[in-house]
Parts: sequence; C-alpha cells; structure tokens
Amino acid sequence: MSETIFSKILTPEIPADVVYEDYGIMAFRDINPQAPVHVLVIPKLEIATVNDVQPEQAELIGKMVLTAQKIAIQEGIAEDGYRLVINCNQHGCQVVFHMHMHLIGGKQLRGLAG
Ligand code: 5GP
Repeated sequence: MSETIFSKILTPEIPADVVYEDYGIMAFRDINPQAPVHVLVIPKLEIATVNDVQPEQAELIGKMVLTAQKIAIQEGIAEDGYRLVINCNQHGCQVVFHMHMHLIGGKQLRGLAG
C-alpha cells in the first residue's frame, strides 16, 4: 500500500493530537474538525479501505468500535450520543487511503436524510 499521511502520523514523522494508543490502534483529533469532538480511530495495520478488510481482521475492526466507545466516554459525549463513520472510496468521499473511523459528536448532528 502506498504511504499515506496517517502512516506518517504512526511513525511519527508528522505530529498529531493523540487521544488513545495501544499495540493495534491509534486515535487522534482530526485536523479539520466537523464538530466539537472529531477523532479519527485508525488501525496501525495499513488497510486501505473497508473493501480490503479480511475476515481475520474482524477482531481489530471490533476493537476500533470499542476504542471509539472508550473515547466517547473520555470526551463526555457518550450519553448524548455521537456518530461513527467510515468513508469508502470515491462515492464515500474517502480522502486518506488508510482505513479510519470518524468519531464525531459534542453537538446535535443532522440526520442522514438531511
Ligand atoms: P476521509 O474523508 O478520508 O474519511 O477523512 C480523512 C480525514 O483526515 C479528514 O477529516 C481530514 O480532516 C483528516 N486529516 C487529513 N490530514 C490530516 C492530518 O495531517 N492530521 C490529522 N489529524 N487529520 C488529517
């Protein structure tokens, strides 16, 4: 897989505001937040898109959700709620091709129906 801005954050060649890290996952604040809380949860393993997730990575993907849950509690937004989003490829508006989950909250979000 080609190097992305997120692999440079992992090395860490590029700095980031890291809110969580363990052996398999890192989470850091989005540089262009869309809400008061906007954190990106990424696997350290370089997986380009959701299309590339393999069955044996199911536990890792589950841990991404549990990490987002933990951060939501840390950030004090769990009770009010939040949104988890994984964009995939062009129609999903994916820009960085190192799969990541957006944790967005801290304000009332619009419904997907607009
Ligand atoms: P995507 O559209 O691929 O799902 O989202 C990529 C996200 O990465 C965007 O929300 C963008 O603001 C964020 N982003 C891009 N470059 C950087 C960076 O260098 N640092 C951080 N913290 N976030 C970044």
